[in-house]
Amino acid sequence: MALRKIGKLSRILCLNNRHLLAARAFSCSSTLQSNGLNFELNELQQDLQQLARKLGREEVAPNAAKYDASMDFPMEIVKKMWDVGILNPLISEKYGGPELGCLGTCLIAEEIAWGCTGVVTAALGNSLASSPVLVGGNEEQKKKYLGRLIDEPLIAAYCVTEPGAGSDVSGLKTRAEKKGDEWVLNGQKMWITGAGKASWFFVLARSDPNPKASAGKAFTGFVVDADTPGITIGRKEVNMGQRCSDTRGVTFEDVRVPKENVLTKEGIGFKIAMASFDKTRPPVAAGAVGLAQRALDEALKYSLERKTFGTAIINHQAVAFMLADMAIGIETSRQVMLRAAWELDQGRKNTYYASVAKAIASETAVKCAADAVQIFGGNGFNTEYPVEKLFRDSKILQIYEGTTQVQKLIISREIISRLKDSGL
Ligand SMILES: Cc1cc2nc3c(=O)[nH]c(=O)nc-3n(C[C@H](O)[C@H](O)[C@H](O)COP(=O)(O)OP(=O)(O)OC[C@H]3O[C@@H](n4cnc5c(N)ncnc54)[C@H](O)[C@@H]3O)c2cc1C
Repeated sequence: MALRKIGKLSRILCLNNRHLLAARAFSCSSTLQSNGLNFELNELQQDLQQLARKLGREEVAPNAAKYDASMDFPMEIVKKMWDVGILNPLISEKYGGPELGCLGTCLIAEEIAWGCTGVVTAALGNSLASSPVLVGGNEEQKKKYLGRLIDEPLIAAYCVTEPGAGSDVSGLKTRAEKKGDEWVLNGQKMWITGAGKASWFFVLARSDPNPKASAGKAFTGFVVDADTPGITIGRKEVNMGQRCSDTRGVTFEDVRVPKENVLTKEGIGFKIAMASFDKTRPPVAAGAVGLAQRALDEALKYSLERKTFGTAIINHQAVAFMLADMAIGIETSRQVMLRAAWELDQGRKNTYYASVAKAIASETAVKCAADAVQIFGGNGFNTEYPVEKLFRDSKILQIYEGTTQVQKLIISREIISRLKDSGL
């Protein structure tokens, strides 16, 4: 049904001819490389962008206010994304996924976010949960847990943050103790996206009780089936925005996890959890760009219609300059977001660009949403108009997957180490 609606473009992605798609993507990117710098998307990327745009504008945007009010999880849209093969874009072809890369994921995230960033968080939370498995999972774990997300429209969740530790991941208290062939997990996680819907969790826990052990050695990452005895899912949190996304606490009480579910090996979970952000921060930045673009589109339309002092408000320079500032923020954020994704798809370390993109795009989204409310005047403060939701939805973009302050810590460390490396 969803396939018929979306039409030709969705069929391109749904033919399950993923070998062909990958080959096309490869040949196009090779051509781009040989031509040097090129700002054009290849044919596959353009198709993908159009497919996601159609879904974002025709299915997500019209239902966004409904989901915001009901706070229901957008399962129908998640299923549609799964139907057309864009729910788990990072998963490799080898495990049945579309292997659309980080850039493909960003194209999807921006277009769906134009409709609603709550839907992006709900749906692409799967990429956050899958990334530690992609980074540190063995073949069996990848086949089992990534394959499960491809076989059915299921949700997975990334369980790292706790009530007492968010930015400072090394402060996590959840304990993992080895007992025979099993590990026993005890602790409490907080603010976990998709927790109430998840089929499995990535869980980061402290496996070395020595408080002096370095973060790089003290933590272990696990894949944990959500129906394992001892797991209790908390109530759905009532958040400021992105209300259709399911955010909950998760408690682990003597949860027994087989040793086969350890990612890579004991002691390197922190590195796996952090490396995952290289894959997921560019798509968060893309979601922020999508929201900012929506704010500009709505504000521009309104400023052409609304009249004060005998003229459309766009003719007041103060308003026109607010719109120009929005465009400046969006264009610059989009470019660095694409750069961050492209670097990763080239097989290069993109931590620096991912943090720059996440920081600038989320700040831009909040500023654009706030300015859109300002341009709408009193109407902007009211739920009948779309911009108040954009304003509420935007704030979390500066907080999750590392706050803006944490991105600046990473960026400053990166530039210092580049300077040292340069020998100056
Ligand atoms: C809706 C939502 C969804 C989320 N989804 C997930 C999820 O799926 N999985 C998951 O594991 N977590 C998730 N989180 C948690 C999120 O990643 C954390 O809230 C975030 O990392 C910040 O941590 P914190 O809330 O503990 O704030 P804190 O770490 O307590 O920070 C408080 C303030 O202090 C600042 N600060 C902290 N340390 C420094 C420093 N060294 N220098 C300068 N400033 C600093 C921060 O920037 C912030 O402004 C989610 C959160 C929310 C609200």
